[in-house]
Amino acid sequence: MDSAQYDVLIVGGGNAGLCAAMSALELGVKVGILEKAPRAQRGGNSTLTSHMRFAFDSVEDLVPLINEPSEQTIKDMADKLPGRPQADLWDEIMRATEGQSDQDLVHIHVRESYNTIRWLRSKGNSWVSNSGDPTAGDLILMNGGGFGLQDHNYNFVESNGAKVHYDTSAFELIQDSRGRVTGVTALGPDGIVNIYGKAVVLASGGFEGNAAMRARYLGAKWDTVKMRGVPYNTGEGLEMALDIGAMPYGSWSSCHASPQDMNRPTYSLPSSQSIGGREWNRYAYPFGILVNVNGQRFVDEGEDIRAMTYAKMGRSILTQPQGVAFQIFDAKTRRMGLLSAYGTASGDTKGTLEELANSLGIDPIGLTNTVAEFNGAIQPGSANLTAFRTDGISTSGITPAKSNYAISIEEPPFEGYAVCCGITFTFGGLLVEPQTAQVQHVAGRPIPGLYTAGEMLGGLWHWNYPSGSGMMSGATFGRIAGNSAARDALSI
Ligand SMILES: Cc1cc2nc3c(=O)[nH]c(=O)nc-3n(C[C@H](O)[C@H](O)[C@H](O)COP(=O)(O)OP(=O)(O)OC[C@H]3O[C@@H](n4cnc5c(N)ncnc54)[C@H](O)[C@@H]3O)c2cc1C
Repeated sequence: MDSAQYDVLIVGGGNAGLCAAMSALELGVKVGILEKAPRAQRGGNSTLTSHMRFAFDSVEDLVPLINEPSEQTIKDMADKLPGRPQADLWDEIMRATEGQSDQDLVHIHVRESYNTIRWLRSKGNSWVSNSGDPTAGDLILMNGGGFGLQDHNYNFVESNGAKVHYDTSAFELIQDSRGRVTGVTALGPDGIVNIYGKAVVLASGGFEGNAAMRARYLGAKWDTVKMRGVPYNTGEGLEMALDIGAMPYGSWSSCHASPQDMNRPTYSLPSSQSIGGREWNRYAYPFGILVNVNGQRFVDEGEDIRAMTYAKMGRSILTQPQGVAFQIFDAKTRRMGLLSAYGTASGDTKGTLEELANSLGIDPIGLTNTVAEFNGAIQPGSANLTAFRTDGISTSGITPAKSNYAISIEEPPFEGYAVCCGITFTFGGLLVEPQTAQVQHVAGRPIPGLYTAGEMLGGLWHWNYPSGSGMMSGATFGRIAGNSAARDALSI
């Protein structure tokens, strides 16, 4: 059965797809969006997010994004982080990825980040100051979170003429005899359907929802990890592009994975957000120690601020016996308000470390020895437990070291929380021409009519990433891809 014909056909209605749609609509073209999920679960991982990481010179740049911030709010923000100039954002990305990010892509990502935020604002999105998660390390959050952003942008594109085909899962690209991509074949509510576009934007996320692909590309143990996000991103977008010769690019063997409550569900749905989704992230680890079932530390919990380490911390936990670890804190961390997001966390609070170890299933002798050794290795100085900067208070003479926030574990009651690895999204993607987001062929030339954005665009993230970057790059390159695809469609 053949179906609709669009100028720009977008596969996937996450943040990247909707930004591509909003951008294409600016050029007056006819836009169609295929979304695999039913309407009630639309919007992808983007619905589960909270913030975007972008460059800004001073907090004055944030004022136009927030609905009437008070003088006090502005002052509080400036005290925490006076600005994040473009050079700092560049450094954060290169620090997190050990310099492996594609510099041409990062250049555009950094240069366009604030412009893109202002563009989103011009479409009616807004931000609020971050008064919630004390480990977040960013000043403002999307108003209503990613759920609010996506809800607004769905309403925006639908009321501006875009047609969304829900429950429609693309699985094959259609090409003409000259190799131009002219549409997709999809499984819709009534069966197999061809849907045509003069240009196609692939924005259907990574392969984190596909256990076989996780095992194939990420390796042992990754097939059985829990997901933090939606179950819909199962890699068909990538596979159908590879099937027609698209060049894979970036880090196919690594992903974003963070510490999650041991008892979190195997995935989360967008609808959980509309009813105030339960918090499963366990991100206070820089302000305590992390041990395995033997009571041994295995990672530098304070290597950097949390925003720079959490995306690789899941992988460290996965390498431990049973794939489980325990975050251990003493009374100081609770008193400083750093565990405010741990209300429903799986764990226990006890008067002694032995009792805590026995309760959680940790070797008690291992834990008490580790804590004694850790406390004895802390170097003098005044600790500053803030998510916005490191404090340089470290250990000496133990392996692994703790490079920052090395405060003692000595004041009862002691708290411990069981965590596992939760995969967020995969890093492997497609090679694009950075200025246009046009997908490149293994033969070394562009694929006519094919563009991509969001997690499908490869080359930005390698083994780690700074928090808030996925939504930012998805918006930036989604906007670029939508504009390029619309121009392409208008030119034929
Ligand atoms: C719990 C959680 C919290 C996060 N928090 C943040 C944060 O605060 N800041 C940040 O920057 N990043 C965050 N991320 C990462 C962020 O979600 C991603 O970087 C971003 O959403 C990627 O956007 P996308 O449009 O590429 O993918 P998605 O938003 O996942 O959208 C992909 C869409 O494609 C659809 N789809 C999949 N396959 C098909 C198909 N075959 N046919 C049609 N449609 C298909 C899916 O249903 C989905 O709607 C978080 C992720 C999770 C899971």
